[in-house]
Amino acid sequence: MTHRHFNEDKLVIASHNAGKVREIGDLLSPFGVAVSSAGELNLPEPEETGETFVENALIKARASAQASGLPALADDSGLCVDVLGGAPGIHSARWAGPDQDFAAAMKKIIEATADFETAQAHFVCALALCWPDGHTETFEGYVHGSLTWPPRGERGFGYDPMFVPNGDPRTFSEMDPAEKHEISHRADAFHQMVDACFGSDPG
Ligand code: IMP
Repeated sequence: MTHRHFNEDKLVIASHNAGKVREIGDLLSPFGVAVSSAGELNLPEPEETGETFVENALIKARASAQASGLPALADDSGLCVDVLGGAPGIHSARWAGPDQDFAAAMKKIIEATADFETAQAHFVCALALCWPDGHTETFEGYVHGSLTWPPRGERGFGYDPMFVPNGDPRTFSEMDPAEKHEISHRADAFHQMVDACFGSDPG
């Protein structure tokens, strides 16, 4: 598949979350792109009405590209539990309620999976890169694992304390952040995007 190469010198991160903006800015720093954020530019925050991670990432990236006239990058991510038919999925943040109470959200998941012997799960991260002329490129990254109870570890965020990636006995919250970032769904999606759009220009 042919991808459009990213030759621009500016990029808007279509997010109002300062932590996410910093993390994405760091990942793109080797490519000499000046990064700003939808929050800094006061761009509108669209409603995430999509039914998939990719659709929601596209909604956010398109809104920022149109409003700023600059290329924009958005991500959308979440936890999918096999025996729950992929829930909480795109509703991962919403399961934690308005207070973003992930202790409660994790408890909800473990109660819902109580009747099942195995709780295979995966994190998904979709990335959408949108140019002001409407061209888009999308990528989806994964990390597969299983759920454990009770939650373990102090690091990370969200559902990290109950997620054990395949091939490691520790939860994401028990890992050094750099170790998590090497194998995470976000890293997978970013590697795909960098290879496709930010690698050396094929000319
Ligand atoms: P988003 O900001 O709309 O992409 O929401 C992502 C939600 O998915 C977060 O609020 C977390 O609940 C969950 N999530 C996504 N990535 C991770 C991760 O790496 N660890 C733990 N939870 C995550």
